[in-house]
Amino acid sequence: MIIVMKQGTDKKSIQQVETLILNAGLNVHLSEGREVTIIGVVGDKSLVDREQLTRLPQVEKIVDITESYKLANRKFHPESTVIHVKNTTVGGDHLTVMAGPCAIENEEMMLRTAFAVKAAGANFLRGGAFKPRTSPYSFQGLEETGLKYMKKAADATGLASVCEVTSLSAIEKAVKYVDMLQIGARNMQNFALLKEAGKTGLPILLKRGLSATIDEWLNAAEYIMAEGNPNVILCERGIRTFETATRNTLDLSAVAVLKDHSHLPVIVDPSHATGVRKYIPSMAKAAIASGCDGLMIEVHPDPSCALSDGPQSLTLEQFEELCQELKPIADCVGRTFA
Ligand code: PEP
Ligand code: MN
Repeated sequence: MIIVMKQGTDKKSIQQVETLILNAGLNVHLSEGREVTIIGVVGDKSLVDREQLTRLPQVEKIVDITESYKLANRKFHPESTVIHVKNTTVGGDHLTVMAGPCAIENEEMMLRTAFAVKAAGANFLRGGAFKPRTSPYSFQGLEETGLKYMKKAADATGLASVCEVTSLSAIEKAVKYVDMLQIGARNMQNFALLKEAGKTGLPILLKRGLSATIDEWLNAAEYIMAEGNPNVILCERGIRTFETATRNTLDLSAVAVLKDHSHLPVIVDPSHATGVRKYIPSMAKAAIASGCDGLMIEVHPDPSCALSDGPQSLTLEQFEELCQELKPIADCVGRTFA
C-alpha cells in the first residue's frame, strides 16, 4: 500500500500519517519527490486503519500494490535510484562499465587488467575469488588471497571493485576487501545468503537466476532491501532457453520491464549471456540502446590461458576498442561514459 500526499504537503501532515502507520506496528518508507511525496507502508496492511487515513486532509489517495515486492517497486519510489560506490555512481546519467577477468588468477594479471580497463573507461574492476563452477573439479578461485590481489589493483587504479560471494564465510572475507558484493545467478534465490549480503550494508549486484522470472528476481532484491540495504543493482546475464547457439539468451526486454517496474539500476552482462567473444560488442551496444545503466564485461590479458570463461573474455585490446565504439551509442541515449 502507498499513500500519495497532496502537492505541497507540509512535514507535519507527513509525520501524522507516519505516526498512524508506526502505531499500527508497521514500517514506513518515505519517498519525497520534486512533485509528490509518497509514503510506502511496509508490512501487513490489514493492520492499518484505512478510513482514518482517508479522512486526513493532506492525503490525496491510497493505492494498493499488487506485486509482493514493495521496496524494489517503482510505485513505492518513483525516482530512479542512483547508487554511490567509492568514487563512482551506478544509475542516473552515467554509464557504468564493470570489467575484469572471470576469476582472479594472480596479482600480475589483476594489476595489468585493472590499469588497461581503467584507461579504456571502466569504473569497476570485477573478478571472482569464489567461483561457482559447474564441475567441482574446475578451478574454484583463490578466495582471500584473490581478494587481496583485487584490493591491490583497485587501490592502485582508483577503480571500485566487485566480487561474487557464495557463502556466509565468503561474505565475511569479501567485506574487508571489496566495494560491492555480487550475488551470482546460481544463488539468486539463496534467501539466507541474500539476507546476509543485505546486512553488510555494502551495495549488492544481484544477477538474474538462470531460469528466474522478473518477478522472482525483484522479490530476491526485496530480500536484500528488507534488511535495510537499499543499494541493490540488478544484472541481466541471460536466461536458459531452448537456444544452444549462445550460452544463454540475453533478455534485453528485461531492461524495459525492470525500468518500468523498479527504480533500481540495471546492468547488462553480455559475456555470460552469449558465452561467445565475437557476439559481445553487438550485444553491449544493444544493451546501452535498451536503456540499461551499465555493462559488465569479462576481460583477460590472455583469454586462451584463462582458468575460467576464456571463450567469452575479451583481450585488453578488444575491450579498449569496444569502449571506443560504445561512446557514440552512450551519447545517443544521453549517457556520459568515461
Ligand atoms: C560471474 O559473473 O563470474 C558469474 C559466475 O556470473 P553468473 O552468476 O551470471 O553466471
Ligand atoms: Mn565468468
